[in-house]
Amino acid sequence: MRIGVGYDSHRFGPGGPLVLGGVPIPVDFRLVGHSDGDAIAHAVTDAVLGAAGESDIGSLFPDSDDANAGRDSIEMLALAMEKVRSMGFHVINVDVTVISETPRIAAHRQEMRERIAEALGVAADQVGLKGKTNERMGWIGRGEGMACIAVALLAPSGADG
Ligand code: MG
Repeated sequence: MRIGVGYDSHRFGPGGPLVLGGVPIPVDFRLVGHSDGDAIAHAVTDAVLGAAGESDIGSLFPDSDDANAGRDSIEMLALAMEKVRSMGFHVINVDVTVISETPRIAAHRQEMRERIAEALGVAADQVGLKGKTNERMGWIGRGEGMACIAVALLAPSGADG
């Protein structure tokens, strides 16, 4: 089996909705990024690519490519997963922690798990997802943006999972 870790952070900017875990959350701020800024999708993408020994989301989908501007990050995750699958791996599970003072994750958790699971070709119960605040400390605590950490476990195709 192969394990990978991914991290991502994005700054908040004016104008909603905020797209996170593939789900548009109706708030009046968003995650600023070249793509849709979906920090969960980016962290999961890097975890899955890392587990396969690949580099990262920025190498697959460079900022310099206009085709990636405003792009749906769940679509990028699905494409990264296609690559990982072609290398002979499938996902056993992923687990994600979102660190942010706002918005609260709980109300959107199940829908996010389903979107991520769909992109990975697994069931929603193979996707862990939880939100934590940063206890009002530092840049996250001041509400300047959010961070996400993800781990992914892969197995060779044909193995149990
Ligand atoms: Mg990102």
